[in-house]
Amino acid sequence: MNIGFIGLGVMGRPMAGHLIAAKHNLFLHRVKEASQSLVDQGGVALDSARAVAEKADVIILMLPDTPDVEAVLFGADGVAAGLGKGKLVIDMSSISPVATKDFAKRINALGCDYLDAPVSGGEVGAKNAALTIMVGGEQAVFDKALPLFQTMGKNITLVGGNGDGQTAKVANQIIVGLNIEAVAEALLFAKKAGADPAKVREALMGGFAASRVLELHGERMVKRTFDPGFRIRLHRKDLSLAVESAKALDIALPNASATQQLMNAAIARGDGDKDHSALIRTLEALSGADS
Ligand code: NAD
Repeated sequence: MNIGFIGLGVMGRPMAGHLIAAKHNLFLHRVKEASQSLVDQGGVALDSARAVAEKADVIILMLPDTPDVEAVLFGADGVAAGLGKGKLVIDMSSISPVATKDFAKRINALGCDYLDAPVSGGEVGAKNAALTIMVGGEQAVFDKALPLFQTMGKNITLVGGNGDGQTAKVANQIIVGLNIEAVAEALLFAKKAGADPAKVREALMGGFAASRVLELHGERMVKRTFDPGFRIRLHRKDLSLAVESAKALDIALPNASATQQLMNAAIARGDGDKDHSALIRTLEALSGADS
């Protein structure tokens, strides 16, 4: 297939790489030094999102935030300007469910299909083509895109209509964010109580507190390896979506709010582009246990 891919960062690079390896023709926008290897493998670099939409039948986005997706879709020389009837836009970024419904309507009005398909599984899942993919859209469109999703992921679910994939992702980020905060508190506690956090983590991995977050993020906290991964800035964005939705829905999400506040502080301390496991540094600073 002719596939466009826009957003070649931590996640987009390996995802686009799997599509090239599966013998699809890839049209890429904003190829930087870090993504040059995709061109070496056969991807074609183009100088606008519009040019990508003109060449490709399916256009995949993997961008940071809602305004980025809106600009790439509807801005000057954007995807919408290059679309012809019958094409498919798949947004795999994690963005606002409300804005997603609006974007889908505007793309549908051009005679094209739209799926929101955010992912979970992180950089490791992207590299291993083992992402969890949460999809919003119509069944027939989902069926058409499924082989592409299977090239990048394993646990693929059509959650509901447009926007529902993004809602599932926000729910995912509440669970992951609060888990990271809990693991950070536990390891800070262990250290200040005089135990070796590495040994505490090892002991807990066999019990009821075991989790992927304790395994992967706990290890990062112990080894102090905070290169992203998933940037705190991006996780703060996801928790902000949760907190804004809580207001709109008149529901209380007290711990999502508290964790969002801690991420605000982490960003203020200069940790916004570190992995979200670096949240432990902010908790340590609050307790005078900086390192
Ligand atoms: P990233 O910051 O590493 O990559 C984003 C890429 O988008 C960058 O290469 C940037 O140059 C590009 N970009 C931004 N604006 C652009 C534009 N106008 N035109 C073309 N390219 C543009 O981010 P990431 O970690 O790859 O995350 C991407 C999305 O996936 C985010 O929504 C994030 O929340 C989500 N996500 C990330 C992870 C993770 O572990 N990193 C996991 C699940 C979901």
